[in-house]
Amino acid sequence: MSSNPKIFRINTGSCNGCDVEIAASVMSSRFDLQKLGCEYIETSEDADIFMITGPVTARSLPFLKEVIKNHKKPYVVISLGTCSVTCGIFRDSYPILGPVDSYVNVDVNVAGCPPRPQAILEGVKTAIEILKRKNNEI
Ligand code: SF4
Repeated sequence: MSSNPKIFRINTGSCNGCDVEIAASVMSSRFDLQKLGCEYIETSEDADIFMITGPVTARSLPFLKEVIKNHKKPYVVISLGTCSVTCGIFRDSYPILGPVDSYVNVDVNVAGCPPRPQAILEGVKTAIEILKRKNNEI
C-alpha cells in the first residue's frame, strides 16, 4: 500500500448533503482527512478507499458495478450516510434500487444524515486499518 491512502468518492444518488459535509470537513484542520495521510483523487484506478454516498439508483448502478468489478488492487468500501446504508428518506422512491451493500461488499458503515465530521473521520480511520489488513493478506 502506498503511504497515502487514496479516496475516490462515488455519489450513487445522494441529495448532496453528505457530499457537502465531506467537503466541509476538508475545510477544518480538525477533521481534514489529510492529517490521516489521505488524499482525494479524481479517477478510480488508484483508489484504496471507495467512499460512497447515497442510495443506489437505477442510473448509478452500472457505473458503480463497473468501477468495483474492474478495480485491480485491494480496496475498502465505506458506505457513508444513512441513505447509503439503508436508503433513508429515499427508501420508497421509484428510482431507488437499494442500499449500497446490496450491490457491493461494504467494509465500513457510517450512518448519519448527514454524518458528522467526527463520524466521517472515524470511518476513514477504520477503513485504513482494514486496508492494512487486506494488503498484508496478499
Ligand atoms: S443521508 Fe441525509 S444528507 Fe446524506 S444523502 Fe441521505 S438525505 Fe442527503
